[in-house]
Amino acid sequence: MKVIAVGRNYIDHANELKNPVPTEPVIFLKPDTALLKENKDFYYPDFSQDIHYEVEVVLRICKEGKHIAEKFADKYYDRIGLGIDFTARDIQQKHKEKGLPWELAKAFDHSAAISNLLPKEGFANAQALNFHLDVNKQRVQTGATKDMIFSFAKILTFVSKYITLRNGDLIYTGTPAGVGPIQIGDHLEGYLENQKLIDFRIK
Ligand code: MG
Repeated sequence: MKVIAVGRNYIDHANELKNPVPTEPVIFLKPDTALLKENKDFYYPDFSQDIHYEVEVVLRICKEGKHIAEKFADKYYDRIGLGIDFTARDIQQKHKEKGLPWELAKAFDHSAAISNLLPKEGFANAQALNFHLDVNKQRVQTGATKDMIFSFAKILTFVSKYITLRNGDLIYTGTPAGVGPIQIGDHLEGYLENQKLIDFRIK
């Protein structure tokens, strides 16, 4: 399986990092070794001094798809959850300045925390979900999937033009504003429609 992630999919987050608002989705990948499951603690790696949290809504792909038509895209995912796209902002910044790929900043071990994934039928409208992240009981990020620049359907259509989607792949659909650094000892709690799905600590 693979993890496909969308960068800059909320205008307020693109603005906070002083990035232009994209006209087509910004896509990057994480390997399966990036996954951090079952609310296990995240161990701060020694190669970065500026790891940021980014809470995101995550889709699970349920069948193989290539050149998916937008009107059928919703049939290609069956579960929805939350993830943290951990990002080594210091490494990313250096790579951005040199025009280099972001992999080392985004794809390192355990950089893709993933919650339990819930059946999408449990939600009336996947494109109208509210989610938020609390760090040490302080609300740091609040998002709504209606505010995405590129909808779930548009993301699947765009990605599948280039990369075949397969059963079990995960799509991290972008983070809203409010990203920030984590510290050892922090407690992260993420909520999707007020259901707590993420609950772990930084060690
Ligand atoms: Mg992200």
